[in-house]
Amino acid sequence: MREIILTKKIENTAFKMNADFIGIADAACFENSEYTGNKPQDVMASVRSVIILGVGVPRGAFETLPEGRAEYTNTLMAATATLRIVAFQIAKLIEKEGYRATIVPTEGSEFGYWYANRETLKANLSIKYAAYHAGLGNFGMNHLLITKDYGPRVRMTAILTNAPLEKGEKDTLLPFINEKCSKCLKCIEICPAGAISRDGEIDRQKCAQYMFNVLGGLRCGLCVKVCPQ
Ligand code: SF4
Ligand code: SF4
Repeated sequence: MREIILTKKIENTAFKMNADFIGIADAACFENSEYTGNKPQDVMASVRSVIILGVGVPRGAFETLPEGRAEYTNTLMAATATLRIVAFQIAKLIEKEGYRATIVPTEGSEFGYWYANRETLKANLSIKYAAYHAGLGNFGMNHLLITKDYGPRVRMTAILTNAPLEKGEKDTLLPFINEKCSKCLKCIEICPAGAISRDGEIDRQKCAQYMFNVLGGLRCGLCVKVCPQ
């Protein structure tokens, strides 16, 4: 009962503070053999739940690409700033209830992937993978989470906590790769760095080099812009 009440409190806080969606994954999903990235258990040994918070990014930021790259990049940073504030309040709420919480950097932010490990360019842990297990969407060929309401036009952060919370049901999991991708492939065709392959993998080095060496640090976003979902 206590876990249901705390879960509701967290959800209510998230929506009151303008998060667009929230999901909760069992931290044990990162113990699956199919997952090869970094794990939340390496950050917090007692972790039980991964809370994913997300906002939809305004469509105008994508539709004005590539001319509006600075505006697109700034809009992403605004989304990150929004999520940080929501996540901080939820972390405080969890700790008031006697548990522990820490906030995972948004992927693509200054502490997210590209910066967590300079060689692999992988984040400390995959928020997208947690979001998939929380039932928030599945993966596109562009290696982004495809959500029902916002497609890949989302920004997400996550909270690790040892609080026992109500989780998304495992039997509601979607196919890992989005069913519509095999007949589309638009993101593969548009990618100026040739970073996306047909098996759903992304060459992070190629993507990062394009953004830093060619665009001077501004974000590209073309694989999101062309996505029809
Ligand atoms: S952001 Fe740009 S460079 Fe990176 S994968 Fe997408 S289209 Fe390619
Ligand atoms: S652009 Fe097409 S192939 Fe790429 S993620 Fe979107 S639907 Fe899938």
